[in-house]
Amino acid sequence: MPTHFQNFIDGHWCDSSDGRTFENRNPANWNEILGTFPLSIKQDVDRATQAALEAFRQWRFVPAPERGNILRKAGDIMVRRKNEIAAIMTREMGKPLTETKGDVQEGIDTAFYSATEGRRLFGINTPSELPNKMNLSFRVPIGVCGLITPWNFPMAIPSWNIFPGLVAGNTFVFKPAEDTPWTANVLAEILIEAGLPKGCLNIVHGAGAVVGAAITEHPDIRAVSFTGSTSTGAIVARACGERTKHVCLEMGGKNAQIVMADADLDLAIEGVLWGAFGTTGQRCTATSRLILHEKIHDEMVERLARQASKLRLGDGLDAKTDVGPIINEKQRKNIERYVKIGKEEGANCMLGGEVASIGNLKNGWFFQPTIFTDVTPEMRIAKEEIFGPVLSVLKCRSLEEAIEINNSVQYGLSSSIYTRDINVAMQAARDIEAGITYINAATIGAEAHMPFGGVKGTGNGHREGGWAVFDFYTEWKSVYIDYSGKLQRAQIDV
Ligand code: NAD
Repeated sequence: MPTHFQNFIDGHWCDSSDGRTFENRNPANWNEILGTFPLSIKQDVDRATQAALEAFRQWRFVPAPERGNILRKAGDIMVRRKNEIAAIMTREMGKPLTETKGDVQEGIDTAFYSATEGRRLFGINTPSELPNKMNLSFRVPIGVCGLITPWNFPMAIPSWNIFPGLVAGNTFVFKPAEDTPWTANVLAEILIEAGLPKGCLNIVHGAGAVVGAAITEHPDIRAVSFTGSTSTGAIVARACGERTKHVCLEMGGKNAQIVMADADLDLAIEGVLWGAFGTTGQRCTATSRLILHEKIHDEMVERLARQASKLRLGDGLDAKTDVGPIINEKQRKNIERYVKIGKEEGANCMLGGEVASIGNLKNGWFFQPTIFTDVTPEMRIAKEEIFGPVLSVLKCRSLEEAIEINNSVQYGLSSSIYTRDINVAMQAARDIEAGITYINAATIGAEAHMPFGGVKGTGNGHREGGWAVFDFYTEWKSVYIDYSGKLQRAQIDV
C-alpha cells in the first residue's frame, strides 16, 4: 500500500471532504507510487481560508522580527534536512540530486533572507505641507494570500512566496502542483517544527481547475500569487481581475542565449549545455533558443552537439545522471508534438528528437536532448515555449539582429549574452526585453536576494525574490498626525 498523505488545514492533517485521492508517481519509474494525496474540493478551500483568516487576526500583531525568527529556524531545519528533502524531490519530479539540493538551498537562502527583512520593513516619512503635522507611511500585510505553484521548483517557488509573505504578516492557502505534493507537505512539517502558529499556512492538494479555481474565486483571499503556464495564468488573472484581487503572475518563457563572434566559446558551450538541458529543459528560465553569430555558428553547433550527445539520461538519484526524465506523459507528448512541428517547418533536427526508452529508461518519461539548426524566427519552435530538452539554433549577423531576434517572442523572462566586449554587453543589457540578463553566464541561476520575474507575456509587472517581493505582499498605509490642536485643511489653508 502506498503511503497516504493529507491536506494541512488549521494545524491539522486531514483528508479531502469527500475522501477522494490521487496518486503521485515517480517520473523516472512510473511503476513507483510515492503516495496518495487528497483530491480536494471547494469546501476544503473554504475551510483552509477560514483557518487562514482566523490565524491572520493574531499573526498580524506578532512583531515582524519575531515572525522572522520563525523563518530563521525554518532555514536551520532545512539545512539539517537538505539531503533528505532533495531525495524526496528527485523521486517526485525527476531532476538530479545536485539540482534538487540546489532547489532546497534556494529555500534556505530565502528563509534566511526573509528572516533578516523582518527587521527592515522600512516605511517612508516625509515632512507635512502643514505646520505641526507629521506624515508617516508604513507597510501593512494584505491578509489571506492564495498561492498556486508549478512542479519544476517544488521547494524554491513556494519558499519565495510563503517566507516573505509570512514575514510581512500574511497567512496562506497553498495549492501545490499535482506532480509535487510531497515536497509541499515537507515544507509544512518544517514550518510546524519552526513554531509557525496554526492556520498561518494551509495546504490544499488537488486539481488546478477545482482547488486553484476555488482559491482565485474565494472572497476572503485578497491576493493570489500564481506561477505556471501563460494559458493558466490568463485564467487566474481573469478570475482575480473580476474580483479586484491583487495578483502576481510568473509565467512562461522562451529564453535565448546570444553568442557573439568574440565570445569564449568553451564558456558559451558549457553555459548552453547547462541552460538548455539542465532540469531537462523544464525551467522557466531554460535556454530554448541559441542565437549564434554567423562567424562562429558552424564551429559552435558542431562542438555543442558533440558534447550534448554525451549527456547521460537516467534516474536523478543516480550520481552519474546528467539529465532526468520529463515530468509526465502529457508533457512528453507535447515535446514530441513540437519536434514534429519543427521538422515540418523545415528545421534540421541534428541531434536527438526521439523518446529515450532503452534499458533502465523504459519505465520513465525520458526524451533525448534535442538540437534543431536552420531555425528562423518565424518558426513555431522559435517562438513557443516547449518546456523540454529542445534547443532551437538561430543565426545572426550583428548584435542588433541578435537583439531583434531575442525580442521577437511574446515572452521576456531570462536572457544571456556571451561576449568579451563590454560595450556590446552593456548595449545588450539595456536593449534585451527580459526581466533578467546574464553576461557571460547561462540563462539560469537566479539568486534569492535579487528581483525575479519577466516582462511582456511572462509576467504582470510584479517580482518575486529580493526586496521587490515585499511590494507584492504588503500594502501602504499613510498616517497623518496633526498636533496643531486646530482644524488644518490640506490644500486649502495655504
Ligand atoms: P500549469 O499552468 O499547468 O500549472 C501551474 C499551477 O496552476 C498548478 O498548480 C495547476 O494545478 C494550477 N492550475 C491549473 N489550472 C488552474 C485553474 N484553472 N485555476 C487555478 N489554478 C490552476 O503549469 P505547470 O505545467 O505546472 O508548469 C510549467 C509552466 O510554469 C511553464 O510554462 C513554465 O514556464 C512556468 N513557470 C514559470 C516560472 C516563472 O517564474 N516565470 C517558474 C516556473 C515555471
